[in-house]
Amino acid sequence: MPELPEVETTRRGLAPHLEGRRVTGVTLRRPDLRWPIPAAVCERLPGQRIEAVERRAKYLLTHTAAGSALWHLGMSGVMRVLPASAPLGPHDHVDVGLDDGRVLRFTDPRRFGCLLWQPPGEVHELLAGLGPEPLSDAFTGETLFTASRGKKASVKTFVMDQAVVVGVGNIYAAEALFEAGIRPTTPAGRVTRERYERLAAAVKRILGYAIERGGTTLRDFLNPDGLPGYFEQELFVYGREGEACKVCGTALKGQRLGQRATVWCPRCQR
Ligand SMILES: [Zn+2]
Repeated sequence: MPELPEVETTRRGLAPHLEGRRVTGVTLRRPDLRWPIPAAVCERLPGQRIEAVERRAKYLLTHTAAGSALWHLGMSGVMRVLPASAPLGPHDHVDVGLDDGRVLRFTDPRRFGCLLWQPPGEVHELLAGLGPEPLSDAFTGETLFTASRGKKASVKTFVMDQAVVVGVGNIYAAEALFEAGIRPTTPAGRVTRERYERLAAAVKRILGYAIERGGTTLRDFLNPDGLPGYFEQELFVYGREGEACKVCGTALKGQRLGQRATVWCPRCQR
């Protein structure tokens, strides 16, 4: 499943090709993806100029004066800008025609992705209630400390909660907790402010690094486990239960937390 860094890499790849272009038409080859595609997409988008391509959590928004198309890549979605004459594949569900003779094509074999509509001046319900972006100044150790007081859930489950901060998937949560030296099973409400400062810094560093690296490996960004290929060599704990800690040599422990595989070093993380 594409994680936040892959979605941000997609945004950076698409933005220069889409921003400033006028939409000439929308072709839907099926009425739905994960959810029905609202009529507004075909009614409002044609004729509009794409003003900006924004990412919010793992959603992409193509903004126009008439409203915004809201996209999600789901498990297997890909968005590309191609010549209109590019051959069609069986999973090419949506084309947005552009005034330079190309199309924005949405391809999604498993159809867990979505294309929805956000009217101007409104926030779509899927985006309402989301926490801050992890790479923004609005996300700090203080954010985590304040939101966690009184919380009994594990710190790992807490930091993966989209209402707390968006885009910290299982891999990134595990690795950031290792970098911050925090045991993932610790109740969130018992982690100190100082340790949350370290955790926020680790989340920013790891996601920022993955985005930086994602820029060069977009085409084959997922291996069969759904793990970003470029990241695999550099994992300290994720997927390494029973193996030796790369820092201290202790065997890494694992258990399921909130139904997610969780691995940590019993010596480095307390
Ligand atoms: Zn260790």
